[in-house]
Amino acid sequence: MKTIGIDFGGTAIKLAVMEDGRIVNQTSIPAFARNGLKARLADTKQAVLKIAGDQGLKGVSCVGISMPGIVDPVRKRPVGLIGKYEDSLEMDLESWCREAFGLPMVMEMDSKLALLGELHYGCARGFQDAAMLILGTGVGTAVAYQGTVLKSRHYTAGALSSHIIIDINGPDCICSNRGCLESMASGWALERLVKQDPGYEKSGLSGEETLDFRVLQKWYERQDPAAVRVVRHCVKAWRTGILNLIHAYDPEAVVLSGGIMNFEGLYEMLSEGIQDDIWGCCGSVEIRKAKDPENSVLYGLHYLCGHPGV
Ligand SMILES: [Zn+2]
Repeated sequence: MKTIGIDFGGTAIKLAVMEDGRIVNQTSIPAFARNGLKARLADTKQAVLKIAGDQGLKGVSCVGISMPGIVDPVRKRPVGLIGKYEDSLEMDLESWCREAFGLPMVMEMDSKLALLGELHYGCARGFQDAAMLILGTGVGTAVAYQGTVLKSRHYTAGALSSHIIIDINGPDCICSNRGCLESMASGWALERLVKQDPGYEKSGLSGEETLDFRVLQKWYERQDPAAVRVVRHCVKAWRTGILNLIHAYDPEAVVLSGGIMNFEGLYEMLSEGIQDDIWGCCGSVEIRKAKDPENSVLYGLHYLCGHPGV
């Protein structure tokens, strides 16, 4: 089966042609997600046609769309987005796919897709009950029971665990609460974390134009004290998130994915010794790292195209 995957992320729009569980060709374009989705549709269409190559869309059966927020997969509409592509709440993307590509479309939330991708093509194959923590611009979560991603009346079950409050006096979050996991440690929280560190002025990080986890890794490896403190803080926050997922949902495995998982050594810092902090009756829980952390969502889109309604 040949499909097109479009992952509308917070920082980049990732696009791929996929066939029989493999990425055949892929590219990405900047998201400018705050400016809305409508403004990006023309470039998205052009990028899809470019990666489709000489064969065009011949043989492609479906377009899968991922959104960085809560999605109603039946109506194929996002229903909860904050600060990213907010205009898409009112858009009919199914019609756009018909007009732009002449193809049917499926839609789901990014974190649920990442979990689907890992369950069927990635590091969670063989597990039935699994949870996902996806570390990127924001933090995404999802939970599957008996091989199926949780469904609930407002599509939020398991999907809002990054807004579980881990510090009641913590920083403001985009969701209007404070001290949520995502506000304590995420791509968008990093600049604040670095700049409020007491050693920031003397740190190599103060000379950097952009602050992302690649830059943080560079200074962490040089043992820059501010960088080391920020990394330790993020690890503590994300380990708390992993424990919260385990204690709330009793999974056999927790999968860690998203671009930040390319940070060298992060998987070990998040997983080593964590079993000691889990309630004994939860049994042993596998902590796995996605094989291809940047592309878990695209694999999930490929699976969903072949199994709409899962
Ligand atoms: Zn929040």
